[in-house]
Amino acid sequence: MQDTILVMNAGSSSLKFHVYETDGLNALEFAFGGQVSGIGGKQPFFKVKGRDQKVLIEQALQPEQAQNLQLSQRVVGDWLGTVITKEPLAVGHRIVHGGPDYDRSVMVNDEVLRKLDALVSLAPLHQRNNLEPVHVIFENWPHIRQVACFDTAFHRSKPEVADRFALPQFYYKEGIRRYGFHGLSYQYIAGKLRQDYPDLAAGRVVVAHLGSGASACAMKDGRSLESTMGFTALDGLPMSTRCGQMDAGVVLWMLEQGMTHDEIQHLLYKESGLKGLSGISADVRDLQDNPDPRAKLAMAYFAYHIAKGITGLLTATQGLDALVFTAGIGENSPLVRQKVCEHLAWLGIRIDPVRNESNQSCLSTNDSKVGVYIIPTNEEWVIAQQTLALITKGHGQAVT
Ligand code: ADP
Repeated sequence: MQDTILVMNAGSSSLKFHVYETDGLNALEFAFGGQVSGIGGKQPFFKVKGRDQKVLIEQALQPEQAQNLQLSQRVVGDWLGTVITKEPLAVGHRIVHGGPDYDRSVMVNDEVLRKLDALVSLAPLHQRNNLEPVHVIFENWPHIRQVACFDTAFHRSKPEVADRFALPQFYYKEGIRRYGFHGLSYQYIAGKLRQDYPDLAAGRVVVAHLGSGASACAMKDGRSLESTMGFTALDGLPMSTRCGQMDAGVVLWMLEQGMTHDEIQHLLYKESGLKGLSGISADVRDLQDNPDPRAKLAMAYFAYHIAKGITGLLTATQGLDALVFTAGIGENSPLVRQKVCEHLAWLGIRIDPVRNESNQSCLSTNDSKVGVYIIPTNEEWVIAQQTLALITKGHGQAVT
């Protein structure tokens, strides 16, 4: 068996993992990847796919087998033990928050882990889960090298005006900043642009990452200038179950009505966005062809506010050479792309309906003033690359 890099992405209801084979120098090749989904729910599921999407295991779990993240890790660990005979060279983790200091990936040690634990209050719903497998490996296999790869790191290049809120200095120093997220995805897209569209990579680009979480990032020369997301993964574009940009006064009103912190958090993170607006579903697939007026409103709101968010980034870039769609919705929903581009038609954006309907890589027409593209994202690949770069070259930049 070849050497491997294991990539872990531990969320609140899923534990994703990918295994890459490596020569320990530069070469990386996807071997297999899967997840335990529905953690803590009634129908947890374990599925792993190998090369060419070949299903290696597909298995419904008993609710008690995946009651929490710890138990789900055991399911993954036990299965990995049957297919990998050699310990991985290193484990790379997706960590949502790197705080103000980390602008690249970092090798985990005692001090780093302490710093990352201290950031839990900045991303309570994500950071603790992300760090759980780091702790387990650190305690049980302290000799295995672990690398933390951050969703915030890519945005640390933002200028100060884009990093601050209009609040007194004290809060900025306390870490109340516009961090921005989905950075691993944006880093992947920046690398793909350099590789496939080098002229555009140097230009003014907005990337719309539209998955169950959604944000857009303004880039120039492959560096982040601005993001629609801010202090938490709640701000900016509307999402599947999160509200997106909203007047902070609404939260004050809710507090005055006697709603508790946990009730407000649940409402804004889990019951809002497409789900809240439609009252039907959080999934674009259930809404986009649905004639119910509530579904139509949810889709219309979604597209309008994505376009508005994109427009809001153009002061940072001073124009637009290319718009890139990525992630589950961005890569697969012609309707969302079409509606967003209709709102942006005043910028001279024109997309070809046939190319759009068939999810082609280039959607724009020859006379469009802006290139419009689909680039499928791959955050796990970035984590694997950054992990390999750190253990071989001692720095956490992807070797794109
Ligand atoms: P995450 O990794 O944040 O969970 P993804 O990038 O996988 O999110 O995107 C998930 C979303 O993609 C789902 O909410 C679903 O609505 C949307 N999606 C997936 N496939 C399609 C499709 N064929 N058409 C429209 N939307 C899709």
